[in-house]
Amino acid sequence: MGRLISIASGKGGTGKTTTAANLSIALGKMGYKVCAVDADLTMANLSLVMGIDDAYTTIHDVLAGRADINDAIYATAYENVHVIPAAIDWEHVIRADPRRLPETIKPLKGKFDFVIIDSPAGLQMDAMNAMLSGEEVLLVTNPEISCLTDTMKVGMVLRKAGLAVLGFVLNRYGRSDNDIPPDVAEEVMEIPLLAVIPEDPPVREATLEGVPVVEYKPNSPGAKAFMELAERITRIA
Ligand code: ADP
Ligand code: MG
Repeated sequence: MGRLISIASGKGGTGKTTTAANLSIALGKMGYKVCAVDADLTMANLSLVMGIDDAYTTIHDVLAGRADINDAIYATAYENVHVIPAAIDWEHVIRADPRRLPETIKPLKGKFDFVIIDSPAGLQMDAMNAMLSGEEVLLVTNPEISCLTDTMKVGMVLRKAGLAVLGFVLNRYGRSDNDIPPDVAEEVMEIPLLAVIPEDPPVREATLEGVPVVEYKPNSPGAKAFMELAERITRIA
């Protein structure tokens, strides 16, 4: 059986989608069968970040009772990686029932080694349903105090809800002189720091190109950090 890992944070823009895409591709490169799911139902962009823009059936159709999950799974240009995209138009958004996310996503465990769930930020209903579709959670934060404390809150709520908190990713490190250093961040968060991803221009360029950085510029510092994150996660049984 595979692992269901939610990617979560307290605030938007911390790098959840970037982490979901790069982690999925990195695991695929390592030979694991991966399904990346866009569970950010109102601000979906995982498939765009991964270069898929022509999906007809989306997770919204499944959550609206109009399609089977198997019709929403797409192969990608990345080895071993499939994607379940989300719709971006409001018509689809209002018909989809977010409460059905866990029952929709959990059975994928039987088909893939890893199911990586890109979630919305915060603790509102949409975010909770997305995050609770996983059995484990990887938190993503930036090196700022309000971002760390908000992300910590999400981790505490999810732990209470029964998810295994794997640890956190400190993303966009080095953007400012006031960044909280990794050792201090780990002390504040009280969970393992699994990777420090530097602020790295190719990560942003890659987003614009629709080819995540581990594929776009595999030798860049950001790409290397995402590859190490994937290796670390496979070592956590
Ligand atoms: P979220 O899904 O948490 O809202 P995204 O993954 O969409 O955040 O990232 C927000 C923006 O930050 C994107 O434009 C992305 O390219 C950029 N970004 C994320 N991580 C990095 C990084 N390590 N270095 C540079 N830019 C980054
Ligand atoms: Mg996102």
